[in-house]
Amino acid sequence: MSNQKVLLGTNWKMTKTLSEGRQYVKQLREIEQQLSDQIELFIIPSFPHLYPLKEDVQGTSINIGAQNMHWEEKGAYTGEVSPVMLKELGLDLVEIGHSERRQYYNENDVDVNKKVVAALRHDLKALVCIGENATDKTMNVGKEKVRQQLKIALQHVPAEDVDNVIVAYEPVWAIGENGLPADADYVAEQHDEIRKLLVELYGNKGVETPILYGGSVNKRNFESYLNCQNVSGLFIGRAAWDIDSFRDILFTVN
Ligand code: PGA
Repeated sequence: MSNQKVLLGTNWKMTKTLSEGRQYVKQLREIEQQLSDQIELFIIPSFPHLYPLKEDVQGTSINIGAQNMHWEEKGAYTGEVSPVMLKELGLDLVEIGHSERRQYYNENDVDVNKKVVAALRHDLKALVCIGENATDKTMNVGKEKVRQQLKIALQHVPAEDVDNVIVAYEPVWAIGENGLPADADYVAEQHDEIRKLLVELYGNKGVETPILYGGSVNKRNFESYLNCQNVSGLFIGRAAWDIDSFRDILFTVN
C-alpha cells in the first residue's frame, strides 16, 4: 500500500432492504467519527436506496455510489438509470462492469467503456471492475485478461480525466460464496501489472490511480492484501455487509 488514502468500500449488491440499509448507515456514521481521515469509506446500495441514504450520510465523509448505469442520458431504455439521474441525486460515484453484470447481463468490455466515458463526461467517478475468470487463471492468461479489459474500458479516456477513475481488481474465481480467497502474492502481481498498464497509458498520472482489491476479502486476509504495494484499498462484499465485521476491519486499518 502506498501512502495515499485507503479506500474501503462495499457493494451491497441486492442484499439489503431500505430499513436494513438505514440501520447499517446509522452505525457506520458512528464508526466513521472514530476513523482517521486517511480512510475513505464508500457504500454502493441498490438504486431505490440511493436518495435516502445520500441524505443519511450528510455531514459525514461516507460516499454513496450506484451499482450501474446506462451510457445514454435519456431514452427508451426500460429499467435503466442514466448518469444525469445519478448526478441529480448529488452522487459522484458509479460502479461499472462488476463481474455479475458481465456474467448475468452480458455486459462486455465495449459496454463498460461506453459507461466509463459517459460517467466521466458527467463528472462521476468511475469505479471500473476488472478480473480474470477461473479458466483464464488456469490457462495462465490472467495478466493479459486484465490488461485487455482495462485497456478497452479506458479507450477515449484522456489523461485529464483519469483522476476520476478507480480500478477494482476482482478475480471472478475469488468472488462470492463459491469464491476462493486469492493469495496475496498473486494479488500483488496482478496489481503490479495493472499499475504498469496505467503508467503506460497515462505516465505519472497513472501512478496515482487507486487500484482496489476485491473478492472474498475477510477479517483474516484483508491485511495481507493491504500490505501489497499497489493495493490502494479494498472493495468488500460479504465481510462488509455485516456492520460488526466491517467495524473490525475498519478499526484494524485505523
Ligand atoms: P465478496 O464480493 O467479498 O462477497 O466475495 C466481492 C465483490 O463482488 O465485489
